[in-house]
Amino acid sequence: MEKKKQKATEIECKDRCPYHGNVSVRGRRFEGEIAKIVGQRAVIEWERIIYYPKFERYARLKSKLHAHVPKCLINEIKLGDYVEIGECRPLSKIIHFVLTKKIRSKEEKK
Ligand SMILES: [Zn+2]
Repeated sequence: MEKKKQKATEIECKDRCPYHGNVSVRGRRFEGEIAKIVGQRAVIEWERIIYYPKFERYARLKSKLHAHVPKCLINEIKLGDYVEIGECRPLSKIIHFVLTKKIRSKEEKK
């Protein structure tokens, strides 16, 4: 008799996570690169181009947001990865977003 134990390949996730936890994603969603990872927090950065009519020029501006990284995703992401974040309830003073998925890693072509 063989009992197949389904070993959890996924890490048990009791974190504030949109898939397993008590955080729901609603509101705005952004995509960007990971500029910094500090513990369970990641800084997401993306570039946007705006037009100044007065100078008839375009400018490249960068936007940054802090996002919470759930435990089930923290091993998948690295610096420079392209990810999606979604707005959730405020998790701390500066974190109102949670990382929802990884779109591609840094090495993959766009
Ligand atoms: Zn999770």
